[in-house]
Amino acid sequence: MPALGINVQLRRISSRTPLRSTPIAILELATGCEPFGLRRGEQTVFVQERYLRTGEGVPLRTMVENFFTRHRRIKKVSVLSVAHDLSKTYGVPTDRAPLPVPPWAPETPPPLPVTSLHIGPMGRKEETCPLAMRALSLETIARFGRENAIAYMDGSSTGGTGNGGYGIYFLWPDGSTTRKCGPVGEWTCSYEFELMAVTECLRIVIGKQREGAALPGVVILTDCRALALGGSGSECVGEAVLLADYLLKTEGVQTMVQGIASHIGVPGNEIADGLANEGRSMPQPRKPLTLSDARSVLQHGTARLWGAAQLSRDERFPRFYEACKARDYLQCLPRSDAVQIFRTRAKHTLLLADRARHGWSATTACRLCGEREETITHVLSECREIAGDRLSGWSARPMNEILWCCDRVAMSTAAKIMRKFLRRAMR
Ligand SMILES: [Zn+2]
Repeated sequence: MPALGINVQLRRISSRTPLRSTPIAILELATGCEPFGLRRGEQTVFVQERYLRTGEGVPLRTMVENFFTRHRRIKKVSVLSVAHDLSKTYGVPTDRAPLPVPPWAPETPPPLPVTSLHIGPMGRKEETCPLAMRALSLETIARFGRENAIAYMDGSSTGGTGNGGYGIYFLWPDGSTTRKCGPVGEWTCSYEFELMAVTECLRIVIGKQREGAALPGVVILTDCRALALGGSGSECVGEAVLLADYLLKTEGVQTMVQGIASHIGVPGNEIADGLANEGRSMPQPRKPLTLSDARSVLQHGTARLWGAAQLSRDERFPRFYEACKARDYLQCLPRSDAVQIFRTRAKHTLLLADRARHGWSATTACRLCGEREETITHVLSECREIAGDRLSGWSARPMNEILWCCDRVAMSTAAKIMRKFLRRAMR
């Protein structure tokens, strides 16, 4: 997609009607969309990583491997040389694990899942109330009778990509429990340690079955959507489901992979979480980087590069960057207030000082009092013409605190003052 088209979409989804002059970088930060160039770079390196993990002699792999040794006639920058340079920037480890071979014979289609895949509310986890997620998880778990074995599992890592650990807590039908934890590797990602936990769960089930325990059903609970549902699209099933199905075919144990909304506050999972932390602190095995690990390293790299780019700009950008990662109370405001606050934060308002910066106004003196420059600070805390609209003690608060605070009333008042000022000034 051309970058211009993306910029139009950014204006649309930011839904705060920025002015036409608002920098695209601010829209990217406000919507949490990483810059197009960075995402394209990340994808380029990822494709290269995928090729390098295919089998020996696969033409694409050969092409990437021989790129720098072959004599090239055309002196044009190639995608491969870009990818080569970028993988150094990202610091992707070069110890690569080959792409996994599925446990079923490649020529037969993957088996149909025997699982229930209700996975809770759609949308981002960060935007859903934790209490609602917990209630939904408990309700999901309660649907399974006590005759089933329940496996709670969790994974954890340091900083998202390093020193992983998994933890498993089994509750068997007779009331007994099994606890297991272990390290995942020096480089890891959430997908890898969740997959490792599922694999270990299945191993425990096989052991139990061979000991002669009667297991009518096993339910493995995961909050990793990709593991249960695979990629996007209703036809997809995750690797965990395929593994569980394989177990049913080979060992005769009915295993279900159940997606749950959240782990937080679910008693069995609190234990699994503790075990995962224990596993993380164990000595980590060295293992080659899988493709999903590589993706995780790249994604963290993009976030790091994007974050670092904000520091070199003016003070607005790090603010927007922080706000896009945390809960931003701007989302709770009525639309008209949100528009005003967003424009004020971006310093792209219809005030004369802002317009003069773009050469759209010859004068900057306040249109109401004429005493000072018509800046955001002047309107919010100085201009005596609209003094009656400010709350008591208002002017003592620094402007940044009002615009970026978690006080909705203060933000709403600031929006109203701005609106009122502009209405009177433009009369
Ligand atoms: Zn004034």
